[in-house]
This record gives sequence, C-alpha cells and structure tokens, in this order.
Amino acid sequence: MYQAPRGTQDILPEDAHLWAFVEGVARRQAALAGFGEIRTPTFEATAVFQRGVGATTDIVEKEMYTFLDKGGESITLRPEGTAAVMRAYFEHGMGSRPQPVKLFSLLNTFRYDRPQKGRLREFHQLDVESIGEADPAADAEVVGVHWRYYAALGLRGLRLVVNSIGDALCRPSYVEALRAYFEAHRTELCEDCNRRLATNPLRLLDDKTPACQTILDHAPASIDHLCEPCGDHFAAWTGYLAAAEIPFSVEHRLVRGLDYYSRSVWEVLPANGGAQSTLGGGGRYDGLAEQLGGRSTPGVGFATGIERILLALKEQRVEVPAAPGPRAFVVHGPGIARVQAFQLAEHLRASGIATDLALGDRKLGKQMASADRSGADVALIIGEDEAAAGEVSVKNLRGEDGGEQQRRVPRADVVAFVAEARP
Ligand code: AMP
Repeated sequence: MYQAPRGTQDILPEDAHLWAFVEGVARRQAALAGFGEIRTPTFEATAVFQRGVGATTDIVEKEMYTFLDKGGESITLRPEGTAAVMRAYFEHGMGSRPQPVKLFSLLNTFRYDRPQKGRLREFHQLDVESIGEADPAADAEVVGVHWRYYAALGLRGLRLVVNSIGDALCRPSYVEALRAYFEAHRTELCEDCNRRLATNPLRLLDDKTPACQTILDHAPASIDHLCEPCGDHFAAWTGYLAAAEIPFSVEHRLVRGLDYYSRSVWEVLPANGGAQSTLGGGGRYDGLAEQLGGRSTPGVGFATGIERILLALKEQRVEVPAAPGPRAFVVHGPGIARVQAFQLAEHLRASGIATDLALGDRKLGKQMASADRSGADVALIIGEDEAAAGEVSVKNLRGEDGGEQQRRVPRADVVAFVAEARP
C-alpha cells in the first residue's frame, strides 16, 4: 500500500483535539492582543521567497519545494509565512489602513529537509506579524503574544533569548568585524563555515558543528557594533519586555536563519532541548518590504511550529482538555426498531445534540458495549418492545450508581428529555 510522503504526517481523529486546542489557544491569544486572521495561498511565485527570505539562506538554497507549473511559471510551496503576508499587505493596499496592521495565520509550511524528530517536510506554524510600525513597543507587543501563547498552553520552563543584529547602516561594519575575526580562525573552522564566510558571515554564528563552538562563542557581539538608533531601539525593546515581566536573556550568537531580519531577533527554547527543539522565533524585518519591491515599511513578527509545541506538551505531560464524546448513543433491535433508531439519531443531530448510532447487524449487548466506549452520557435504546410502544429506554451511562438508572420516555419527548436531563 501507499504511504504518506517522507516527512509528512496524518493527523488522526484521536489527536485532532490536541490540534484544535493548540490552534484555539493561538486564536484566542492573537485576538486578545488585537491581531486579525489572514490566510494566504499555500504556494506563491518563487520570487516572493527568493527575494523575501534571501538567496543565501538554507531555506532558499536547499529546502524549497519549487517547480514549474503547466503554464511555465516557477511556483514554490511556502517555506514560511512572513514574505507571503507582506506580499498580501501590498497587494491589498493595507499600507493605507491604520498602522500597524496586526495579522496572524495558522498555516502549513514546506521545507525539503532531512526528517527527524521535530523536523518535518510539511509542518504547521502559528505566524504573527505586526506591519507598519517601527516603535520598539511593537516588537515587545509581538513577543508578548509569543510568550503568553506558550504560558496559556501550559508549557513551563521555557527560555526567551533575544539579540539585535542592527540595521543596514551598522550591520555592514559588524559583518566586517565578524569576517576579520573568522578569517583569523579560518583553518580551525569547518568546511561549511568556510563556505559561508564568503557568502554570509552572520550565518556562521548558528553553525552547530562541535569543533567550531568555542571560536563562535568568542566572536564579536552585534550589540557592541550597533549604531545609536539601533542601540536605542534595543534598549527600549528590552525595557518594555522587562516592564511586562517577560524574562529574557541576551544571546550574542542569535542571528536567525532568514535574511530579512534587522534589529530585534528572538527565539524561545525549551529549558533543556537540542537543536531541533526551538519552539519558535521571530524578529524585525524592516528591509523586507523593499526586497519585495514595495515601499519601505517596517514590520516585526514570529513563527512557532505546531508539531514542536505538541512534542513539548507531551514531554511536559501537560493535560489537554479531552475531546467531548457524543451526548447520546442510540442502540436498537432489528426491523422497524432499526428504522426508528435511525430516525431518532437524525432528529437528535438536527436538534443540535451530538449523537452516535450503532450501524450494522450487531447484537444489543455489543451495541451497548460500543455505547459505553463512545463516552456518551446516555444510551437510547429502541428494542422491539419500545418500538411497539412508541417509546425509548433512556439509560444513564454516567450515573454514580454505575449507570444502572433506566427509564422509558415517549419517543416524542426524547429530544427534550436528553437536552434537559444532565446526568
Ligand atoms: P523558522 O522560520 O525557521 O524560524 O521556523 C519557525 C519555527 O517553525 C521553528 O521554531 C520551529 O518550531 C518550526 N519549524 C521550522 N522548521 C521546521 C521543520 N522542518 N519541521 C517542524 N517544525 C519546524
């Protein structure tokens, strides 16, 4: 038989309530801070990501699902959300709305990477963006949503690390300082680092090769090379975080893997997690709009991986509200009883009462076992007797006496009875 493609997952009904929970909390937290939902297409013109994410990033260099469609257009399955949201911001003239425009989406994203725990080829993200405002309070507001989201999910012991990578004015001199430092240590660095040194020295800082770590740890820090406005922005941003009692630490090696960031960058990590466990990250991207051919427009946002959140919830044994079972389960005898049972189940559903029904030719005892397993509050039984009398036996499956209470109710009264009688 066929199997799901490598690096993809089926989400089965028994796990769907976890997804609904994680997505529901996301919607609630976004709404609490005034972020509205946006849904962009699953694929975009390749240039949106090539120009938006940056040609020398891992994503664009190695991980994009890019193909020519039948019309010969180069199409890419979105590897992230921000560039597409910025494209939509311009396409719909959102620059003329009150700024910032605050948006969130829950989306699937695609990266061709080596699948492992916490790393998939199709994964899902909550993406939160605040576009059109340069105020460091916007950065702090977005971090607030990010941080509160995990707290509201019940995750504990997380670490928020922050940094500033400067802007187009001060970053070049920082990159030069980095380059000079790495050049001096060239022979001690791995092949990958040496290759990146030529294209994007910032990217060396998040290299994970064990032999490179000491050199990378001692590299010049970007916050020592910020111009005055960037320094002020960083001080104000972290000041707001402190005022909101959001705990953070400054991590000099945090640069993030996408080219569009400027000034603020941050990540949230589990207390003791490996490289594949970063829950989410974000940053300011004041240069992105122009990269995409739009008017210079500041922006700040984050993305967090839903699958990684689910792993963390499981590892921390967070109790997630269980999916509700049906309210009623209809079991029945053969013949006319069966037709009446079907009719009753449909009637209950039409009345807004979640109802399940035994299908097939199973004996009453087997059907009752299914009713017990279903988690329903009541079993509604139409045997031959009940069918003839125009009645239904209602059995409480949740009663304190082990669910032994049972009473007969006229068929016409069953909907009202089930709706009212809370076991
Ligand atoms: P990034 O845009 O790379 O910062 O990714 C944002 C978040 O998405 C990460 O912190 C992860 O939680 C998640 N993520 C990124 N890549 C993957 C992947 N291949 N599989 C699962 N989750 C991912």
